[in-house]
Amino acid sequence: MKKLPVIGQENNLTFEFKSLLDFANPIYLDNNATTQIDDDATNEIIKALEKNYANPSGIHNASKIVKHNILIARENVAGFIGCMPDEVIFTSGGTESINTVINSVIQTHYPRKKIITCVTEHGATLNRLKELEKLWSPKYDIVYLDVNQYGNFDINKLENMLSNNVQTNLLVTLMAANNETGTIHTNLDQAIQLSHKYGALFHIDAVQVAGKLSLKQYIDMGTDFLTVSGHKFHAPKGIGAIYVKSGIAFTPTIFGGSQESGKRAGTENVPGILALGAIAKKMPEASSYVKPLHEKFINMLSSKLPSIIINGGGVYGTINIGFKYVHREAMVLKLSEYGVYASVGSACANGIEVSHVLKAMCVSQEYIHGSVRFSLSKYTTEDEIIRAVEIIYRAYCEIRDISFGIMP
Ligand code: PLP
Repeated sequence: MKKLPVIGQENNLTFEFKSLLDFANPIYLDNNATTQIDDDATNEIIKALEKNYANPSGIHNASKIVKHNILIARENVAGFIGCMPDEVIFTSGGTESINTVINSVIQTHYPRKKIITCVTEHGATLNRLKELEKLWSPKYDIVYLDVNQYGNFDINKLENMLSNNVQTNLLVTLMAANNETGTIHTNLDQAIQLSHKYGALFHIDAVQVAGKLSLKQYIDMGTDFLTVSGHKFHAPKGIGAIYVKSGIAFTPTIFGGSQESGKRAGTENVPGILALGAIAKKMPEASSYVKPLHEKFINMLSSKLPSIIINGGGVYGTINIGFKYVHREAMVLKLSEYGVYASVGSACANGIEVSHVLKAMCVSQEYIHGSVRFSLSKYTTEDEIIRAVEIIYRAYCEIRDISFGIMP
């Protein structure tokens, strides 16, 4: 009987290639999915679990200490966002924050029913809005902006949407940068001005720019809401925040105790909040650190593989590469075998279903199936980038050989 090939078999690898592999230290290039937690955040969590575990709502001294620590964390997060501490509501992450903004706005401003968004938004926005579309009374009018090949929307189309049935305008909700491609929505300042001119509120999903670009710029632009998620910038999973501009009416959607000034009931996630506070305090914008690594990655890979394309792009650290005539899952699994962790781009873009973002950008058939996202962080090193490029090159050649004749 013939021996079946074993996954991870290294026998046919050259000495030079083997020297690039380090299975004990994989190269993690999936930071848009989640990031490695920062030591300061871990220390805060340990302190909160081991020592400061009292319920902040109590009136004894142990509770008062925790309450005070939360106050400091809130100030740090407010400083990070560029707002006042009482404009911050802690939540469990990006998805809850985005859902809360939408739910609050529809309840506060019933029966206004027009919500404008973009086809390339994250599922947290699109799937919440899809649920609203199913309702009969009130029947919500969800209007979708399309995008050009770079992933940007047309500001004139937004104005047309806003100027039609003005009295029904409720909310415009757009991301600052796309999680799959890094495309920055460059015209958000104008979009905010137009939304306000036509009576709509504005929300920015800033999940993929927090820790990478200044959030204060969006506050200065006048956004009414902004949402962030801790695990995307080295805080733990399960903690996020919403900025609600002072004076903007907010209807809670979770009821119970009076935590978060009554805006989000439930005993606080103290370890998460303190960890987020610690990160917010120290977090410089990582873009300047990853910029040279980002550029090196693209320059090296495109000189080894001139057939690749870059899908979108804008935020340093997010690189979506279209590989010609291969399947993205085959690429990601092969890379994983060699200790490089990347991503197919989004949780819903698996199997034969292509990414809704790349589809909206009209990425060609030759590339859309073979698009892989590499995302960097402050922990990515130059050596990792150099090794990753060699490994990606080899993985592509192997997969291309297998796919030949199968892929279009
Ligand atoms: N918005 C964007 C742009 C995201 O990338 C993500 C997560 O990938 C979310 C929202 C949801 O955030 P969370 O994972 O904290 O629920």
